[in-house]
This record gives sequence, structure tokens and C-alpha cells, in this order.
Amino acid sequence: MKKEAFSQQSCAPIFILYLAMLFLLSACHTDEVIEEHAFLMGTMVSVTVAESEKDSQVRLAIKASMQEIQRVEALFSTHLDNSVQAFNQSHVGVWQDLDPEVSVLLAQAVRIMAQSQQAFHPMLGQLKQLWAFQSESKQVPPEASIQILVQAIKKATLEQKGTQWRRSHAALRLDFGAIAKGYAIDRAIKVLRQQGIGNAIVNAGGDIRLIGQRFGRAWRIGIKHPRQANQILGWMALKGDVSLVTSGDYERFFIVGDKRYHHILDARTGYPATKSQSVTVIAKNATLADAWSTALFVLGSNSQGLVTAPTDLDYLIVDRQGKKSMSLGMQKLFHSQ
Ligand code: AMP
Ligand code: MG
Repeated sequence: MKKEAFSQQSCAPIFILYLAMLFLLSACHTDEVIEEHAFLMGTMVSVTVAESEKDSQVRLAIKASMQEIQRVEALFSTHLDNSVQAFNQSHVGVWQDLDPEVSVLLAQAVRIMAQSQQAFHPMLGQLKQLWAFQSESKQVPPEASIQILVQAIKKATLEQKGTQWRRSHAALRLDFGAIAKGYAIDRAIKVLRQQGIGNAIVNAGGDIRLIGQRFGRAWRIGIKHPRQANQILGWMALKGDVSLVTSGDYERFFIVGDKRYHHILDARTGYPATKSQSVTVIAKNATLADAWSTALFVLGSNSQGLVTAPTDLDYLIVDRQGKKSMSLGMQKLFHSQ
């Protein structure tokens, strides 16, 4: 009897303590993501973190990842005072030192150029300048100027000696526009991980790498419709470590007559690529996904909807008629809207 009274008295405080702990746990774990945005690399970048850690720690990690993207932008931009700009202004035939990080990414870009039959071309800077999509002058350049450049690019060579590079013709100008964003995303994820973050998305204008999950659920990712503004083509539920990058002809373009001229160029013809409206690639990192989304955009799919690409990539191609073709892996992930 005495014992029973004792246990009844001691149970109440334990129960209250238990309730208080439950309350505390739920107060820490609000299931709310922390997100920050910044305009970097010519696009809106957002970093989203889903951790139940203290806000201040997460915000510091996000800040560090944004700084890393800024650092990458400074290294690879063609408009800033860096080794890329120095190379593009250097004398033809003279060895020029590139920043070691730039040199490593250029070597990778050159390999992808060869694998994609020059569809991906990291040295079409002068052709891009000729088309001037960034400027106000929305017009097709003279045919003769395009052909002179195409012939020069075709014949020109680029050589590497360690971190030194030299070009045989001034028509070759470095442009990392189709790969640097992916690389910056990979670097940002690396920094987040170093800061102990395991659940996050880095999104640079729709190009993303995600890690972990969103409080026990997959991240839901929408793919932009190439022809209907603010609509999505479909969506995917993704978790783990997934890089997904889209190249589209709707990003920077002008229309003359019934023709759309856009910023993804085919260095072999000198004109904007005509086979696709958009291409989404999933690869093991965002650098590869970025480069191959551009390459596959230019290459397009064949009549069976197949592409020439490394087998470890998944793709969704919307061709110029708006017809979708997908790799088997993509078919399993993609849900039509
Ligand atoms: P993305 O949006 O990743 O497909 O990259 C497009 C940007 O990459 C353009 O704005 C150019 O700076 C550059 N670019 C255009 N065409 C190509 C190409 N065929 N290969 C490599 N870079 C390209
Ligand atoms: Mg790209």
C-alpha cells in the first residue's frame, strides 16, 4: 500500500518531464527549411537546407556555400579580370597560364567536347559575342561573318602543357557558360557537407544538386515547360545525391519571322542548335549534368528517341516539335503534369 502511494506520487513528475521533453523536441524540429537567395553567375541562386539544427549554424553554412559560388564565378567569368580573360586576350600561339582550377575544368570540358562530337564546345566565346544575345541588338549576324568564324574554329587547335594552354587562332575564346554553373553547384554542395549539412538543395536558375531529403520525404522538383511560361512539363520526387540540369531555348532568345534564335550554339554550323526545345540531364554531379544537357541539346535525339551519350546519364529531351523522349532511368522518375 505504501509502495503504491509512493509510485503514484513519483509518476506524475516523470510524466510531466516526458511531456516537456516531447514539447522541446518538437520545438527544435519545426520541419521548416531555411532558404537564402542571391543573384550570382547571372541567375538567381537559392540554397535550401532541411536540418533540425540551430538556425544560426545553418545560416553560416548557407553563407559559406554562397561565397563559394561567388569565388567560382570570379574564376570563370569572361567579364572579370581573371585568367580566362587573360587567355582570351593573349597572343595566338603563346603559352598562357590558367588558374589551376580553371585548367582542370577546361581539360574536362575538352574531353566532353570530343565525346560529344564538338556539340559541346567550350571555346565558342567569339561566336557567342557575334550573336550578342546579351546586348540589345537582336539580329542575326551576317552569314559571311558566321562562316569565317566556323571555318576558323574548325581548323584551330588548343594545346595543354600542365596549367598552360595555347590556341592556334584568335577565334578560339574560352566560354564556360555551359559548365561553370554546374561546377559552382558542386562546389557549393561540397562546402555545405563540410559544414555538416546533409539535407539541402542548391538551385542556380533551375539547375540543381540535391542531397539527403526534406525531413523524411523526397524533394519534389518541377521541370519547366519549354513553351508555356510558368508551367511545368512534369515533376520528380528525388532524394540521396542527385544532380539535374536543364538547357532550354527559352532562356535567352529572339524571334525573327517564324525562327527562334537562342543562346545554345552549334559551333559546327555557327547557328543556334535546332533539334531541341529543352533537355534535362541527371548525372552523378552537376558539372557533368550541365555540360551534357548542353551537348544533348545540340545533338538531339534520333528517330527512336535515343541519343549518343555516356550510359551513366539519364535524359529527358523535348525535340523541336515538342515530342518527349526519355532514357529508361528518367521514365521511372518523371511524372507528367
Ligand atoms: P546552358 O544553358 O548550360 O546550355 O549553357 C548555355 C551557355 O553556354 C551559353 O550562354 C554560352 O555561354 C555557352 N554555350 C552556348 N552553346 C554552347 C555549346 N554548344 N557548347 C558549350 N557552351 C555553349
Ligand atoms: Mg549546360
